[in-house]
Amino acid sequence: MDNNAASHRFLDLRAADEAFADELVRAAERVIRSGRYIGGPEVEALEHEMTALTGMAHCVGVGNGLDALRLTLRAFVAEGRLKPGDEVIVPANTYIASVLAIIDAGLTPRLIDPDPATMVITGEAVEDAITPRVRALMLVHLYGRTAWDDTMRRVVEKHNFTVVEDCAQSIGARSPYAGLTGLHQTGALGHAAAFSFYPTKNVGALGDAGAVVTPLPEIARTVRALANYGSDRRYHNILPGFNSRLDPIQAAMIRVKLPHLRQLNAERFGIAMAYRNTIANPHITLPPVSKDVTDCVWHQYVITTPYRDRLRDFLRANGVETDVHYPTPVHLQPCMVNVAHGPLPMSERLAREAVSLPITPGSTAVIDAVEIARIINRFDPKQTQ
Ligand SMILES: *Cc1c(COP(=O)(O)O)cnc(C)c1O
Repeated sequence: MDNNAASHRFLDLRAADEAFADELVRAAERVIRSGRYIGGPEVEALEHEMTALTGMAHCVGVGNGLDALRLTLRAFVAEGRLKPGDEVIVPANTYIASVLAIIDAGLTPRLIDPDPATMVITGEAVEDAITPRVRALMLVHLYGRTAWDDTMRRVVEKHNFTVVEDCAQSIGARSPYAGLTGLHQTGALGHAAAFSFYPTKNVGALGDAGAVVTPLPEIARTVRALANYGSDRRYHNILPGFNSRLDPIQAAMIRVKLPHLRQLNAERFGIAMAYRNTIANPHITLPPVSKDVTDCVWHQYVITTPYRDRLRDFLRANGVETDVHYPTPVHLQPCMVNVAHGPLPMSERLAREAVSLPITPGSTAVIDAVEIARIINRFDPKQTQ
């Protein structure tokens, strides 16, 4: 086969959501007929379901994942647990939202490199990056892989760091290692966690949506106030806040999919295994598979090759769409010129070498993955221009 019409799309949301379409329509209709268009039972029910999923006592629905992160950090500042200028360790190869949230809260990002194999940060790297100004850690479970281990726990406990998880890509993932709370679920490892329901995430709304979970009642209260003009009760504003509430229609959409989370993540695992068992090409490095099946929920399946652009051209010519997460590391973005950082060679290498393969659940997804893998096995960087 050699054509330019992609027979393997990178991500087709319409196809992915087809299985839920009838239920989504019914759920939207429920909200439309309820007359409750801000807050109300759908939002409360989703918040309850997120506390059940994570084991955290509190959940606050917000407008999107970036707001979940930035309002959480602002809440820690408002509560005096962090103060302006404090440094927050964060991986440089994350999606930029993790870092924008730190800057928005008046904190200073301290960018570090990930482990080259897992592409998430390690406890050792965190320990090496500590300065007297580091007071917090943003734990990004990038591509769905939990970034937590005993060293990480020891380091954050020893220094009493505030730990905020970026769970935008890791809903349903469980670390083999217990978090600060004693629980293993991502979202329950630290002091607070942010989720995104952006449509492409493992559980996607049909628009923007996000949520914060935390075991700390004062943080939940402050995030809820910040997301609602800074008011703790009607017409009483304790903080200069924002409008970032979770839309009840989106809450209803998420509630259709959330009960299928385990199945959806299991399907992603199946696709990842199909790639792992079929791709055999000396020019390509595959992501490692942890012994613990739920340690990674495979938001993306990211392979690396020094011939990245040639591989992508070859795959495109063979009908396979790919993507790159992310082509520019955070510290090289134009808006980050004033952010100080040390050398970040691993993040720069990943930005040059990473390719994301299609990994959306669906009835033919595993067969498709095997087909894509076989195409990848035919890739020879010397035979393509
Ligand atoms: C998607 C994403 C976000 C932001 O979520 P939005 O809902 O798009 O604002 C933050 N961090 C990471 C790692 C993400 O992948």
